[in-house]
Amino acid sequence: ARGCTSMYSKKIGGCYSESLTKLCSIPAAESSKKKDMLLGGLLLPGLDEQSCASRYQSVYYRKNMTRSPTPYLIDRLRQQEALQRRCGPGTDAYRRASDRLKSGVKDVDTVDGCSYLVLLSYRGLGNRILAAASAFLYAMLTDRVLLVDRGKTMGDLFCEPFPGTTWLLPLDFPLQGYKDLGEDAAESYGNVTTLRNETGGSSSEHRFVYMHLDHAASVENKLAYCDDHRQFLHRVQWVVMRTDGYIAPILFLNPAYQQELHRMFPRKDSVFYIVSRYLLHPTNDVWGMVTRFYDSYLKNADERLGIQIRAFVKDDKPVQHILDQILACTSQERLLPGVLPSAGGAPPPPTTTAGARSKAVLVTGLNGWYHDSIREMYWRSASANGEVVSVHQPSREEHQRMFHRMQDMKALAEMYLLSMTDKIVTSGWSTFGYVGTALGGLTPYIMFKPEDQNPKVPDPPCKRAMSMEPCAQGPPYFECTRKEVDKLLDTSNLVPHVRACEDMSWGLKLTEPISEKDV
Ligand code: GDP
Repeated sequence: ARGCTSMYSKKIGGCYSESLTKLCSIPAAESSKKKDMLLGGLLLPGLDEQSCASRYQSVYYRKNMTRSPTPYLIDRLRQQEALQRRCGPGTDAYRRASDRLKSGVKDVDTVDGCSYLVLLSYRGLGNRILAAASAFLYAMLTDRVLLVDRGKTMGDLFCEPFPGTTWLLPLDFPLQGYKDLGEDAAESYGNVTTLRNETGGSSSEHRFVYMHLDHAASVENKLAYCDDHRQFLHRVQWVVMRTDGYIAPILFLNPAYQQELHRMFPRKDSVFYIVSRYLLHPTNDVWGMVTRFYDSYLKNADERLGIQIRAFVKDDKPVQHILDQILACTSQERLLPGVLPSAGGAPPPPTTTAGARSKAVLVTGLNGWYHDSIREMYWRSASANGEVVSVHQPSREEHQRMFHRMQDMKALAEMYLLSMTDKIVTSGWSTFGYVGTALGGLTPYIMFKPEDQNPKVPDPPCKRAMSMEPCAQGPPYFECTRKEVDKLLDTSNLVPHVRACEDMSWGLKLTEPISEKDV
């Protein structure tokens, strides 16, 4: 079978070999070349590839990895997998831990060597994906088993990432009302630490601690970013986390984690990229949507451009200034050719002769008007440089619907399709765009969000980002040594690899300091 490593073929053997042959003989985009399906050791061999084809097929659709996992990170991933298996749902250790949580027994230390991080799902899919990658990183840093609240659709979207166990929070998870935990909860980090400072209590007095890391969380709750886990939270067996975004850049500011993070990610501009290739594998249903669209509309083009449109406008109605912004950006950055003026009956230039360069434009957005307008532009007029431009949009859902199974599946498929383009333009502030970009290892051209009060094309319309990393949209304004919560500090200047985001001046983003960049 083409494209299979011999190591892999040998290992799976038996009942899996037939499906592997099927998998490897699929005529995917780059199937003629032999590829490292296990991504340099990031993935383990031997999982049933029929139940999760994307795990092994995606390498044939994506560009070669531009950043490699370090041997140290690979070791840490294997340790995390072992922990997830040893303590995860279905084990005696999990049963004992959930019994303790249910019975409300306090004063328990981390018993069985198993402690847990439960991630609550909320907001749009982009938010949830960034939260999942962040929670995984936090679980690794703090030696906790990650369990993800499935929030109706998670199991339909992603394969199990850890061999031999599940990362989905069991449906009989015993903590009553856990989905409604908010920052005023008695168990919130803010409340627990305030009480501790007042009374000198210890963390093991708590049945669980709730980390409320929403982008708009209070300062008291954001102090959790500065927690030195070894001193406080490690004695709490259950931690429940709620976050709607990417918190990795903020973790890089906590001295307690800096050394470990540096060992795991010596390059700071590709944390999400590497974590997502390990953790996030679309289910077969979603992967089918991705590959069918790619093979039909994108595969044969000489170049693919992604344009992700997220117009934060009332009712998601189309607006002219956003179309103007897209065209201004693609023209300024020479991503799309201009068009020739109508020639009043003159014969069209021979753009369709064989050999003309082709560009496929993938447009994603809730509204179809932007796609239709761009496509019509290249239909009515010839492109100025002779390029053949085709424009495609997989869906037009009109309105955002939370936790709607099919919309989430389409959204995920579209994020993956965006990640398979060669260049990408995204909308500022959009976590959907952050995910599409970082999954693909693409450095985006980010369109600035127009002002709500003064809706016009921003000048400049867009800017090339400093890295592929997502933006942490709600970071704290204090640093972890002094914790001066009543002063506003610019946290984008504390270390060279955490900088202010292009699209949101108060957000934080990981990047490789300029002197160390090699791309
Ligand atoms: P954000 O709001 O831009 O940060 O992105 P999110 O993904 O968190 O939330 C927006 C939600 O709206 C998505 O999860 C989808 O459900 C929907 N949505 C927004 N843009 C698109 C799109 O281009 N395609 C599809 N299929 N859904 C979209």
